[in-house]
Amino acid sequence: MPLTKTDFMFGSQCHRLLWWRRHEPDASELQPDRVLQDLFDQGNHVGQLARERFPDGVLIPSRASRPDRVQLTAAAIDAGARAIFEGAFMVDNLFVATDVILRDDAGWHLIEVKSSSKAKEEHVPDAGVQAYVMGASGLAPVSIEVMHLNKAFQHPDVGDLFARTDVTAEARQRMPEVPDEAARQLAMLDGPIPPRAIGLHCDEPRACPFKERCWPQDERHIANLYNVGPKKAAQYMASGVHRVDDLPPSQKLPDAAKRQLRSLDTNAIVVEPGLRAALAPLDVSPLGFLDFETVSRAVPVWPAMAPWGMAAAQFSYHESRADGTYLHVEHLAEGPEDARPILAQRLVDATRNAKTVVMYSSFERTQIRALAKAVPSLEAELQALDAKLFDLLAVVREQVYHPAFRGSFSLKYVLPALVPDLSYNDLVIVNGMVASVEIARLLFVADRIPLEERDRVRQDLLAYCKRDTWATVRLLETLRVIASD
Ligand code: SF4
Repeated sequence: MPLTKTDFMFGSQCHRLLWWRRHEPDASELQPDRVLQDLFDQGNHVGQLARERFPDGVLIPSRASRPDRVQLTAAAIDAGARAIFEGAFMVDNLFVATDVILRDDAGWHLIEVKSSSKAKEEHVPDAGVQAYVMGASGLAPVSIEVMHLNKAFQHPDVGDLFARTDVTAEARQRMPEVPDEAARQLAMLDGPIPPRAIGLHCDEPRACPFKERCWPQDERHIANLYNVGPKKAAQYMASGVHRVDDLPPSQKLPDAAKRQLRSLDTNAIVVEPGLRAALAPLDVSPLGFLDFETVSRAVPVWPAMAPWGMAAAQFSYHESRADGTYLHVEHLAEGPEDARPILAQRLVDATRNAKTVVMYSSFERTQIRALAKAVPSLEAELQALDAKLFDLLAVVREQVYHPAFRGSFSLKYVLPALVPDLSYNDLVIVNGMVASVEIARLLFVADRIPLEERDRVRQDLLAYCKRDTWATVRLLETLRVIASD
């Protein structure tokens, strides 16, 4: 089996990762979930739009066998094609299919199409391996570019949807290393699974799907310390710190991390004496609880939105009543038109009477500010709502730590630890990324979804968003009990 460009890129990240991909293609970790599938679909859409920029291009069918694709590409070149899409080349068992190659008087130009809104460092070796195989096939490109979405573009027609970044010099620098690395990968694939220590390569350029197989599931591992991301974890491990117990006494840590260490040592919840005072601003009525779900599309569809811009399309709102019960209001956009004006109006109406509105993380504030820009007629009302927001996550982070938080203050960890009788286990949609993809499906491709499935997905989305605000209600109740204890 030849090595494809995709194989080569995974192998360059980690041989062990490539070995599993090739030897266990059916591994559960490799099956694309709805979020990944949506990313693929959006990437394909961007690729199709990019091709429209090169009229008369010849498309090499990707369903043909690899040798046939190489032959069809050679035939298109011989026939004088000026632009070729998916042009295929193979040398020394290394196969690449190029997004776009263009011919002019200077020679052939290689263009790699990406759906990101800028050229990234990881795109350089990707282009480099293609340029190497083209060159070794006798068609060395005279320039190498990444064609990506233009973050200055705004729907529908402000600026160009695409921008191009020249990476010729950087990609050429990577070319000499390609043949040896490809040979190493091919030899490695013929042998047993190779060893590889964990490190930054497990998260960059992309998070490896096999982390659960390689990383220790140890709550005292340094990567599980609060505020330690992949880079910091790699630095710690390189300096010999693999567990929190290895930290030198002089190590400076944020207060939340120090609290985490106390909690791990005692295997008990740690509560600061300031919790009661931190919750005091919430002793008001009516008290609201707000949560948004959003959509984000590579190619924006609503006015003034940029590629991958995020827009609120759903909210759930609980509000306390004098009798101790809660009023619930919800909204989920319908149809492909701009959802923001109607959503903003319903949001302003729902939250008008609340003295304070609780959110969990600053995400809701960001969305309200974006709504104020998108719906200027409600700017003053949305600014008034912004002024009423209260971030409960900040209180948890500064006042409470439970051993089950595993260094994170996201509701995914905080809720089961502090409100164990409430979970998302009975729901179909259980995270915001899936919710976002499902909302986009309902709004923009509803005609491709059977009616009964549409209704079901809508109910699943409403149930998920409602659970998010109810979880915040219950979390506050629990925090009040903890504070009074
Ligand atoms: S988790 Fe890290 S070491 Fe393990 S396969 Fe993935 S990248 Fe390689």
